[in-house]
Amino acid sequence: MRTPIVAGNWKLYKTISEAVEFVSALRELAADVTGVEIVIAPPFTALSAVAKVLVGSNIRLAAQDVFREEKGAFTGEVSPVMLKDAGCGYVIIGHSERRGYFGETDASVNRKAKAAHIHGLKPILCVGEKLEDRNAGNTQSVVEAQVVKGISGFSEAEILSTAIAYEPVWAIGTGITARSDQAQEVHGFIRSLLSRIYSTDSAKQVRLQYGGSVNAANTAELMAQMDVDGVLVGGASLEVESFVNIVKAAHG
Ligand code: PEP
Repeated sequence: MRTPIVAGNWKLYKTISEAVEFVSALRELAADVTGVEIVIAPPFTALSAVAKVLVGSNIRLAAQDVFREEKGAFTGEVSPVMLKDAGCGYVIIGHSERRGYFGETDASVNRKAKAAHIHGLKPILCVGEKLEDRNAGNTQSVVEAQVVKGISGFSEAEILSTAIAYEPVWAIGTGITARSDQAQEVHGFIRSLLSRIYSTDSAKQVRLQYGGSVNAANTAELMAQMDVDGVLVGGASLEVESFVNIVKAAHG
């Protein structure tokens, strides 16, 4: 019942021409893929050019961040209205790099996600514990706080159009992937939280992605877990063949 979602987060990589070259190839290579939602998150500068290549394709466009306001005197920020205008359907919010390097908090993440919903952008809301949290046995309490605060005030319709990405910080860019049972344990926990806040029926419909050193070799096992509905891919989304292999592995 949940359509798998595979999203590539390019971070601070790719010029406009490199991005266009990638998505032109991806469009061809993924043309026959059905039953998986494919999402690409280029840097802001490439969004509009990539959107033009993706028109009429089965690939959706995401931004890597958004500002909470629609417009105003906020030098350097990009608003949800601007992202919609550039062709985005999704936006990644609260990535651990944003939290770690740019001071994002659960409160700022929540405001951004609400702004995204107001303007018809679907948030991919990132949560995940640091290694010291896990080692201290605090994984669930950390993830619970991030989820509960991150989705605070979301209506039922808004939670249904949100994807939550569980990205343990110790697994991002490290080559250390969470074991599939570790991913399932946290995904199951997040779904039970959603059942408590909304309803079991709604919780069953929310897509939960895993992120952290995902590659074509580990996608199928992660996706085989009951509550893993997709992946959020950093490094392995930068090469088109590697990303397509992940999309195909997610398809099963
Ligand atoms: C990410 O940036 O969200 C991520 C999971 O990165 P990587 O796949 O490189 O670990």
